Amino acid sequence: MTTSPGSPEIIVDLGAVRANARLLAAHAGVDLIAVVKADGYGHGMARVARAAVEGGAAWLAVATPEEALELRRTEPDVPILCWLTTPETDYAACLAADLDITAYSVAELDAIAGAGARGARVQLKVDTGLNRGGAPRAAWDAVFARARAGEDDGAWRITGIWSHFACSDEPDHPANDAQEKVFTEALDLARAAGLRPDIAHLANSAAAILRPSARFDAVRCGIALYGLDPAPGETPAIGLRPAMTVRAPVVMVKDVAPGAGVSYGHLWTADGPTTVGLVPLGYGDGIPRHASADPVRPGAEVLVEGRRRPIRGRICMDQFVVDLFGDRPEVGTGAVLFGPGDRGEPTAQDWAEACGTINYEIVTRIGGRMSRTYVDEGAR
Ligand SMILES: *Cc1c(COP(=O)(O)O)cnc(C)c1O
Repeated sequence: MTTSPGSPEIIVDLGAVRANARLLAAHAGVDLIAVVKADGYGHGMARVARAAVEGGAAWLAVATPEEALELRRTEPDVPILCWLTTPETDYAACLAADLDITAYSVAELDAIAGAGARGARVQLKVDTGLNRGGAPRAAWDAVFARARAGEDDGAWRITGIWSHFACSDEPDHPANDAQEKVFTEALDLARAAGLRPDIAHLANSAAAILRPSARFDAVRCGIALYGLDPAPGETPAIGLRPAMTVRAPVVMVKDVAPGAGVSYGHLWTADGPTTVGLVPLGYGDGIPRHASADPVRPGAEVLVEGRRRPIRGRICMDQFVVDLFGDRPEVGTGAVLFGPGDRGEPTAQDWAEACGTINYEIVTRIGGRMSRTYVDEGAR
């Protein structure tokens, strides 16, 4: 990673993903369900899924059936959970691929049965207070009864019952205790209805790390698998390592005179003579325009020749400008936008803070015209 970049690239350290999976599974002490939706949070679904399984993940999970079908091609033997079905979902394809399909309603269970389910794997999602997906409490009796009837006639086996937190990144938020209690009630009702799922699961990354009481039989970890902090300021250090580095060459260096405005809108004006460098990446590549520097917000920074260089003015579709403070690095010198942070470079968390968003959005939206390179460095 020390050679200078030829073109902008996303470098993904599969060794870090493997090590993070191992750490999370050991820390939680239950099965790890590695969440690799949205192209592995921008890291590349197939490669990070494999690394996570090598690191000890017992399950893989994605949001949509389409993602799950694609993942099945490279992971024929690992259980794969998906949950975001639509009226267009090809249930027959899901059944043929032996996916764990999540149902929220009697209508979905009927649709799965109607697709010819025999011995299918179905999980039930109950809404315990997120008020997003999942069966609302008023529907539990009917959903559990339909699920049990489907088991009786051989259509499926209910392999899991699960739910999702609203506020797990705020460990003291009262919704966490409340949701956990409601989840336990759902499990009791399901049991009373005759269901015996293999796994009950509730925790995402933040809860997996911060809430031992929420671990049940498995934890669904996404962001922590990629080494990013699910609850900045709250999470104890367990040794996770960020897997993604984004870098690009500086493609032009020039002088800027005092008083000159830089980039669209001239939002930033040089207050003295300086040099600036052009980085050939922009919002067309998922670099957030909110990372621009304006009179109110300082914007994000990049690392060039061992020093942090602030973005000056607006991030454009294809390019942005950084302050080189009078330095004149050779054209082709590497600019590291973010990475693990241990070589002085900013992190995805730093970018998130500069943009007023979360680290999830920074890594997941990166892409565009950049190429992705895989390395295997792991913990250091
Ligand atoms: C995305 C997602 C996860 C993973 O969440 P992280 O906070 O990234 O660990 C878990 N469960 C569900 C339902 C999700 O949508």
